[in-house]
Order: sequence, then structure tokens, then C-alpha cells
Amino acid sequence: KPIPPFQYKDFLGWNEQGDGKLFLGISIENGRVKDEGAFKLKTALREITQRFTLPMRLTANHNLILYEIEPEQQQALENILKSNGIIITPEDIEPLVRYSMACPALPTCGLAITESERALPGIIERIRVLLDKLGLQEEHFVIRMTGCPNGCARPYMAELGFVGSAPEKYQVWLGGSPDQTRLARVYENKMPIQELESFLEPIFVYFKTERQAEESFGDFCDRVGFDAIREYCHSNQPTPISTKSENGLVNEAEVPESVKPKVNTQNRRHRIRVRDELHQRIKEAANKQGKTMTDLAAEALEAYLEKIS
Ligand code: SF4
Repeated sequence: KPIPPFQYKDFLGWNEQGDGKLFLGISIENGRVKDEGAFKLKTALREITQRFTLPMRLTANHNLILYEIEPEQQQALENILKSNGIIITPEDIEPLVRYSMACPALPTCGLAITESERALPGIIERIRVLLDKLGLQEEHFVIRMTGCPNGCARPYMAELGFVGSAPEKYQVWLGGSPDQTRLARVYENKMPIQELESFLEPIFVYFKTERQAEESFGDFCDRVGFDAIREYCHSNQPTPISTKSENGLVNEAEVPESVKPKVNTQNRRHRIRVRDELHQRIKEAANKQGKTMTDLAAEALEAYLEKIS
């Protein structure tokens, strides 16, 4: 019998298991069973275990499945979960969170270079704000993060993967598929996490303007290729407003004035490679003066060439 194409399913919410009984998939953000404020997953699971002694399975995406549930137990289980602040309906979960994963990293793992589990919720919030700002409210994709290259949360399969590479810096991986059937590739080696918005914004704008119908973010990055993405980003640097905005975003950036420039135009600008340290100094100087890096570098080079001519 031919194997059907692989499709990722997380089996969250209520499902029939085929023998008259039910199973229930519960989303666990970053795999952490805890009580925190009104969210009391630990308490709910303890009560369910004590009252119903149901078997449980942990999934490869750090969720939980309760099974062998009699239909008459459904309401009582639902009451326990809802009264402890647990979302049961999968569609009610923010999709960026639903499909994300992070490894424990700091402070649990001795191999961690950066934060991961503790940082990812805030990073997803920042990405959601950015997507909303760019008119991509309906968009979601697979985001994964780890605190070192061991990759325990499988960031190398994500559509947008972050891998801790130095303190406060992450490798950025792009191009995985929504079903995780294609490997992502390294797009950037050391992205300072405080520059998340200005780094991602031109990529998202390019995705918005050049994507094909129904094309996912990971499929888009894989199709157009990294050279085209880099070229677009170099020609469309967002202008930093401040290092700390009213929204609490770090280095928030404005939407580029022109969101429609094509990659191959007559006015195409060319790229020059510089070492990391110089790149960082140019970036800091540009931020300080409220200029784009491209403008600042062009001014400096013109002044130098004028001087030596
Ligand atoms: S990816 Fe690295 S930091 Fe994260 S849990 Fe694995 S070994 Fe630890």
C-alpha cells in the first residue's frame, strides 16, 4: 500500500480513538508543566490523575495526550482543565505558540550558550507584533529555538529557527517546511537578539510582496533562495526609530517606504562584505545618527574617495 504524503498533525483537542472512547491532546508550551498565576496545568493534571487514572502519552512536540476516556468522563475533564486556565480548543491557541518549540537551555542545561525556553515566549510576542504591523495578522509558521547547536528542539527543521551561537546572539535558520519534511539552512550566524525586529522586518516584507498564493514562509525562503533575500534586505533596510519604543520593542523599525522594489532593477545597489566587528560599528553609528547602514556607509566611502582623489 503506498504511503500517503506526510502531514504534520498535533492531535490537540478532543478526538475519537476508534473504539467508542476518546482521547484529548493538550498543548504544553515549551513542554513545561507548571502552575503560574491563573494558569495551573500542574494542578489540573494532578487532579485528573487522582480522579481518573487515565493513561498518558507525551508527544514528540512536547504535548500531552490523555486517552482511554469514556464519553461520560468528557465533561468532568473539561471542567477541571477550564477551571485551571487550560485552553482545550486548539484554534484558540496562538498558532505561533502552538507550533513552536524551545529546549530548556539556561538555567537548566550546562551546555547552553543562550536563553531559550525562558526567552521564546517574549520573542514570539515580538514576532507577532511585527507581523501585525506589516499586515500579516493571519500568518503563522514553525518557530523553534535552542540554547546551543546541539539542537534539542529540532530548530534545523523549523521555518524560522534560532540557535544560540554566542551570548545574546543566535544563528538564524530559514527554509524548513511547515510539515518539517525539509531541512532549514543557516541564513545568519550571529544575530543579536535585540535586533530581532530590524533583522526580520525586510524578510517579512519581501515574503509579503513576493510570495505565491498560499505559500508558507518556509517554502518562500526555500524557493527564492538566500541570495535574493539578502539582496532585498540590503536594498530595503528599515529605519530604526529608537532602541526602546513605547511598545517596549527593542530597535523597532518602520516599514520601508517602498515595499514593492523587485530584486533585479536598474537601480540595484551592490553589496560589499565587511568583517563582523566593522559591521557592528557601522550599525551602532547608523543607529546613533538615525541613518540606515547603507546611507552611512555610502557617505563615509564617498568622503574617503573624495579625500584621496
Ligand atoms: S540544545 Fe543545547 S542548550 Fe538546549 S537543551 Fe540541548 S544541549 Fe542544552
